Amino acid sequence: MEKDLILKSGDIVGKSYAELGYQSLRSLGNEIKELIDQRKIPKEPWQNVTIKIFLAQIAAMDSNNYKNNCGVGEREGRIYSEFVRERNFDLAHGIGRSGDVNAIQPKAIGSSLVVQLTKFLTLHAFKIMGLNCIKDALVLPLATGMSLSLTLLTLKDQYPEREYVIFSRIDQKTCLKAIKTANLTPIVVDPIEDGDELITDVEQIEKILDERSSEILCVYCTTSCFAPRGYDKIIEVAQLCKKYETPHFINNAYGLQCGRVSNDINLAVKKGRVDVLISSTDKNFMVPVGGSIIYGPKKKDIVEKVNKNYPGRASGSAVIDLFLTLLQMGEDNLRALLKERKENFKYLFENIQTVLEKYGERVLISKNNKISMACTLKNLPDGYDPTFFGSYMFSRRVSGLRVLKAGPEKEVGGVKFKNYGSHSDNYSHLPFFTVAAAIGGTQKEIDVFLKRLDEALAKIHSKPDHVEPEESKEDCKEPN
Ligand SMILES: *Cc1c(COP(=O)(O)O)cnc(C)c1O
Repeated sequence: MEKDLILKSGDIVGKSYAELGYQSLRSLGNEIKELIDQRKIPKEPWQNVTIKIFLAQIAAMDSNNYKNNCGVGEREGRIYSEFVRERNFDLAHGIGRSGDVNAIQPKAIGSSLVVQLTKFLTLHAFKIMGLNCIKDALVLPLATGMSLSLTLLTLKDQYPEREYVIFSRIDQKTCLKAIKTANLTPIVVDPIEDGDELITDVEQIEKILDERSSEILCVYCTTSCFAPRGYDKIIEVAQLCKKYETPHFINNAYGLQCGRVSNDINLAVKKGRVDVLISSTDKNFMVPVGGSIIYGPKKKDIVEKVNKNYPGRASGSAVIDLFLTLLQMGEDNLRALLKERKENFKYLFENIQTVLEKYGERVLISKNNKISMACTLKNLPDGYDPTFFGSYMFSRRVSGLRVLKAGPEKEVGGVKFKNYGSHSDNYSHLPFFTVAAAIGGTQKEIDVFLKRLDEALAKIHSKPDHVEPEESKEDCKEPN
């Protein structure tokens, strides 16, 4: 409300009280002004009331909420259900225009403002997370896999004669399916065993580039993965990509939360070639599944091409979720969450070791993975199926734990793999299980998990029969 109007209300409620009310509204307005001016995540979280007022102002700027607006087009942002209206804060136009998903939509100036602000806040979040080389970003309402495909297709558009993707093997089905959906052919490079860890076979990648770089669309690296695979050696790969003039594509699904990964990305950009990166919004920023960020170290490059290639408009949900989350989190809390995650990893590592030792197991050391850790299951009683341990833990309300054992050959995305899930045909330390310390997890959860792990292993060792699936506990296995 305008100052005059508020002070006028002093005639009704008393001048000095109206002045107080005005001060409060003004400081709230200043926060909004600062956001638009600075284009940064506020240092301290915004209060609910600030967010509500801002959202209402934004919605009022969109044509579907103009008073007495008369819509005569086929896309007028009409919402039938009140629940749906509420869930979308009266925003109905989504993002972009059919020609460019990042374009300003004149009918929806409020929504367009949110899209642009979210991009700036995301770039600021990257800096807070240690990534300081990123110049352009796009938040899309596509989960990571679809964004991987879309970006590969956009690269392919630039290099239509190139068919192959050098794929540093990671056993995450989406990764291969994304290549397949883009109608490309992966050349799988298995990681090599180094101590307990599986690391990028840089030599093999160079060999392929040396022989046939003109056919290679990109080298596809992944910087967040289940242990014992380390995140890829992207600095070395970036140098190769520069030398062989081949695009470097990085799947950084949940790597934003790890400062070391960010640091390596900075160095890879500085010393070599990195074209584009993709991260999940849910895995890094604690929002529901459904969004991802495509970003890169250059303006007017691949991210801009993805904007233009994207067919049609897009849902605004992923953008709004990220926008509101960053406002409610604030810079201070984001930093605190990152710090807590790092400490939790250390805490989990030290304390899980103590539990495992009692049963003759240990953590498999994977120096280049600071999110996920793998632990041996080599001492289970004879004949005991390690996957029963996984379903037992899931039925005891432990989610996220994954058990890997030697398995039959499996076809994923048209490629045959041995021991799929372990990132390697013949890793030495099967079976094992993995757990992770991810953003938002708490030390309390780790304590409860360790207690349940201890109880489960004790029971398996004393009465293995009691820990076998009764009816169809296989169904209890956590889906991947
Ligand atoms: C989660 C994940 C994906 C798939 O992400 P979606 O958001 O489910 O599409 C791809 N690659 C890696 C490494 C992941 O962790």
